[in-house]
Formats: sequence, C-alpha cells, structure tokens
Amino acid sequence: MSVEKSRLFRGGRIASAVATEFVPEDVLVDGSGMIIARGKGFEVPTEAEVIDCTGCILVPGMFDVHVHAREPGQEHKETLATCSRAALAGGVTGCVLMPDTSPPVDTGNLVKSVMDLVSEQSLIPMYQAGCLTKGREGKEMAGYSGMAARRVPMLTDADHTVPCPYLMRRCMEYAKDFGVLVTSHCDTPPLSKGGAIHEGLTSYRLGLPGIPAMSQEIGIDRDIRIAQHTAGQLHISQISTAHGLKSVQIAKEEGAAITCEVSPHHLVLTDASIHDYNTHFKFDPPLRPAADVEALVQGFIDGSIDVLACDHAPHTEFEKSSEFISAPFGAAGLETAVLLIFDQFIRRGVFGWNLLIERYSNAPRKLIGQQPTAIREGEKAEFFVFDEEGQTRISSDCMHTKGPVSPFLGETLSGQIRGTTLGSRWYPVG
Ligand SMILES: [Zn+2]
Repeated sequence: MSVEKSRLFRGGRIASAVATEFVPEDVLVDGSGMIIARGKGFEVPTEAEVIDCTGCILVPGMFDVHVHAREPGQEHKETLATCSRAALAGGVTGCVLMPDTSPPVDTGNLVKSVMDLVSEQSLIPMYQAGCLTKGREGKEMAGYSGMAARRVPMLTDADHTVPCPYLMRRCMEYAKDFGVLVTSHCDTPPLSKGGAIHEGLTSYRLGLPGIPAMSQEIGIDRDIRIAQHTAGQLHISQISTAHGLKSVQIAKEEGAAITCEVSPHHLVLTDASIHDYNTHFKFDPPLRPAADVEALVQGFIDGSIDVLACDHAPHTEFEKSSEFISAPFGAAGLETAVLLIFDQFIRRGVFGWNLLIERYSNAPRKLIGQQPTAIREGEKAEFFVFDEEGQTRISSDCMHTKGPVSPFLGETLSGQIRGTTLGSRWYPVG
C-alpha cells in the first residue's frame, strides 16, 4: 500500500458555517490525512506537495442525504464507483444511498451486502438506507430489526409514498422503537398518477398531464399528523410547494420532530423552464411555479428548510430520450449542486457560503447522527477547493456520473471546483 505524502493547501481562504469573513490561511494535511496545521508561518515538510489555492476558498465537504447510486441492479445507469467520483467532483464527501435498487434494500442482509460493495468500490463514505415496506410495495412493513442492527441511517421507500395511512402509522411506530429516522416521499398517488409535470399553465400549454401541488401537500399534511400522533422523527423529502412548506413551519412551531429537504433544482428552476419537451426537466416532485420557488428560497434562508439534498437520480440518455410522458423522473445532481447554489445565490449576495455549509454539510450529517466536519487542526481532511472567479461549463463529456442527464447541460455556471481532498487523497477535477 502506497504511503501518501503531506500536502500543503496554500493561499486559500477557509469557509465555515459560522464565519462570514474568510481570512487567508494555509492548511497542512499529513500523510495519514489529518489536518496538522492551519494558519500562516508554520513549518512545512520539504517533501510536501503544494496545492496552490490563491484566490480560492476551502470549503468543508458536503453531505447528500438523497442519492440514487443504482447499484445493485441498474448498473447501466450508475455504479457506486461512478457515483462516488461524481460526488467528489461536486465537493460532496459523503452520502446516503436510497434503497430503490434492484432488489430493493429491505433486509439487514441486503444492507450488509451493499455496504460491503461500498467499502470495495466507493471513494467516499456512503450509508445505505433501508426500505419502509417490503420491496417498496407499500403493502407490509419491512424487517426493521435486521436493518437497524446494520445501522441504517434512515428508513424510506425512496420515491414512493406508503399509500395506506394505517401502515404508515405502524412504520413510524416501529421505526421509533428502533430509534431510526423515517424519510417520506410525501405524495397522494390517486392525484399524481399519470402526471408528468406540475399541473398549471405550463402543463396546459404543453398538453402534458399534470401533477397538482396538493398531491404533495396532502401527503405532507398526512405524514406530519402521523408523526405528531406517534411522536416519531420524520424527514420530508424534496419539498416543492409554498403550502407544503407552511405545513412544515406550523408543525415545527408546535414542536414536532420534523425536518425537510429541498433540491437545488427546486430552488433555481420553475415549471416555465420546461421547454421543447426536454425530459431532463422532468422531476418527481415536479418543478413548480415561481411563487413556490420564492417561498422555498425564503424557507432555505430562514431555516424552515433544514437540508439541501440533490436527489441524484441518473438515467441513460437513451431512457431520457423517450417521450416526455413515458420518460423516467430525475436527473444527475451531485456535480452541479454546489455550483448552482454559488452561481444563483452566493455570487449574487442572496446568502453566504456559511448558509450553504450549514444546509449541505452540517445539517445533513447531524440528521443521520454523524459529526459535522470542519477545516481545523486535528480533524480528518475533508474539504474542496473552490475558485469563485472560475467558470464551469456543464457538459456530459466532463461529468463523472454514468448517467449525465441534467437540465443544466450546455450552461456555463460561475465558479469552479478545483478538487476535493478526503483523508490522505486529493482528487483534482478535470
Ligand atoms: Zn429520489
């Protein structure tokens, strides 16, 4: 096994969740991957590799709680290895894997087998979530004791809701007994069934079947009530409407143990962004009108939205090239999340790096019981180097995911991730 050398990250400014002003400091990482010095004027080993970070910001590694890595069973879309490379290219140094693989991960043995694959294939820590119901079919509860013994970070049927409120109640009660977080894809299938985009002016104009806002909103209200009744811990996946957010705000004021996440695409795109029937804009939940997007941005800033999560859902270009109605939902997101938030919000002064670090690095780790990471002496090195003056052209050729479908293909975003360091390894981008 090769021994890594020391690395000096020289001339950058260090970002954190608490500071708004970043002073220039150097960071020295030793061969074991630990940060052993931060500041100016300390002694540097002569053999240390120097990474020039002049003009750049060093940002703590992000953590994404909503990633579909597709392995096992759908390796034509993505693998654990390609997913981890995409994550590192996007500044993400850890993630939670959704259990909607083939077969779905609904037993302790399956959790173990994926975690064994993760340790062989992945360049970053990944934590496998377990299913709420057997086979994600929404008919009977999965076996929680085996999955809890394997320390699943959450139980979720990924992008399926549990249709029966009685079963959802039982799921929340049992998950609470095992001390495991429940993550819900809130939806009302009789309302959303067959829909392709948000029901509204754009769906009428394009002649596409709609998914009404109330489909997610009724699901959110139902699951909040079940969480309050059972006193369980509920995380709401991919919130997309102002009304849904209002329900979360009221429940939080009432003291319920509820958190929610939003995706970058729901913060920067509206349903009106969908043009030419481009299936790369097809998401579940769908993109919503501007008034919803404005409410979500406000909720992201004021803390009623706890977590940013990209819902990385790669597909092959072939799958996405079918008709809009039949194309699968979702797109790749790990490589564009930080860039989008920088380009649309941080660069324009809407909010600072500290808020992004709180919502995409600290809060998601805390949500699943992990310690947040920070760039300080005695910590494992886990950060990325970001050039605020750089630019990144989003193209499928440059993406590391196996399924480079994205609504941002062809766009040039402000900012550039130069590379990510994790422990003793340095992964330059490009
Ligand atoms: Zn998803």
